[in-house]
Amino acid sequence: MKPIIAIVGRPNVGKSTLFNRLVGRRKAMVDDMPGVTRDRNYAEVNRFDIPFILVDTGGFEPETSDRLLQQMREQSRFAMDEADLILFVMDARGGLTPADRDVVDMLRRINKPVFYIINKVDGEKQEAEAGDFYSLGVDHIHTISAEHNRGVGDLMDEVLAAL
Ligand code: GDP
Ligand code: MG
Repeated sequence: MKPIIAIVGRPNVGKSTLFNRLVGRRKAMVDDMPGVTRDRNYAEVNRFDIPFILVDTGGFEPETSDRLLQQMREQSRFAMDEADLILFVMDARGGLTPADRDVVDMLRRINKPVFYIINKVDGEKQEAEAGDFYSLGVDHIHTISAEHNRGVGDLMDEVLAAL
């Protein structure tokens, strides 16, 4: 059985962009409209000869914060049940939100490797903005730009080592 890696996070943080970056083609739909991924999207990936299944979790576009939380909890439950490793993606531009905190509280209790990732750190300037996220108190935060392929290689080296 190939290990399963699930990408989880709020709409519009760049989950599908990261998915496509890792899959190497535009398989998941990326859009400026949040929540465009309607369903889960699976791909088989081989990275440095290590095979794994990558899952992009999407969902509906939540109109309220309650619905957002409901969707994120559902994504996270799926990931906790089905995945061997979880990539939890947050957004440097959007900042740290209560929904992020809620899901982090959920994920930190599970007994699987979880990588906490801040996307849209396109350059040095955004590195400073990412400082907020350290208040989550998680061991390590990875800053990346899925769109500009910044930090993704280093992140994946650590992810593959944790499988
Ligand atoms: P999802 O809803 O989490 O799957 O997010 P998407 O992958 O659809 O991306 C949402 C928006 O964020 C799109 O407009 C992307 O082009 C943009 N985006 C994704 N990654 C980055 C990044 O690293 N930097 C910047 N500046 N924008 C990004
Ligand atoms: Mg998406």
